[in-house]
Amino acid sequence: MNLQLLPIGKVDHGLLASLAPGMANTFALPCEIVSPGLDPEFAYHRERQQYHSSEILARMQGRITAQTWRILGVAAVDLYIPILTFVFGEAQVGGSCAVVSLHRLRQEFYGLPEHRDLLHQRLLKESVHEIGHTLNLTHCDDYRCVMAASHAVEWIDLKESSLCSACYGRVFNNCVQLKDV
Ligand SMILES: [Zn+2]
Ligand SMILES: [Zn+2]
Repeated sequence: MNLQLLPIGKVDHGLLASLAPGMANTFALPCEIVSPGLDPEFAYHRERQQYHSSEILARMQGRITAQTWRILGVAAVDLYIPILTFVFGEAQVGGSCAVVSLHRLRQEFYGLPEHRDLLHQRLLKESVHEIGHTLNLTHCDDYRCVMAASHAVEWIDLKESSLCSACYGRVFNNCVQLKDV
């Protein structure tokens, strides 16, 4: 079983290659980049000029294989769900699929100079966060915890890329329960 990274749209391979070891470390599983990537055009909505993340998640179901522990889509495009102006990502709570968007993690989106290290850090945090939701984790009140809610990029920068001990414990207990069944 492994954690699979699926590029969605034109995603810089170097970004995914640097994300993989961080994800493998956090969840103690091999992490691999899968191909071909997913073309997100089917999820584009002209009236919003954005891509509907729930539709992307539904399509990703078809990419699950016997080797899949979780599959994380990394999208170059801007994502939304109808009740929100945008999302940094979305996950199937307790499911296998999650997606994150690079679009609003880039400093350039805010009119600032490119900052590769910051982009890498933000991507790792949002990726761990969304995979956390697939493990049934909800938002955490500890602002430093990776499971803290983030409604703006500044909030992402405040948190760490790891789970707090309470969230870590919840994941660990889930694993024990799974093994007991
Ligand atoms: Zn969340
Ligand atoms: Zn936490």
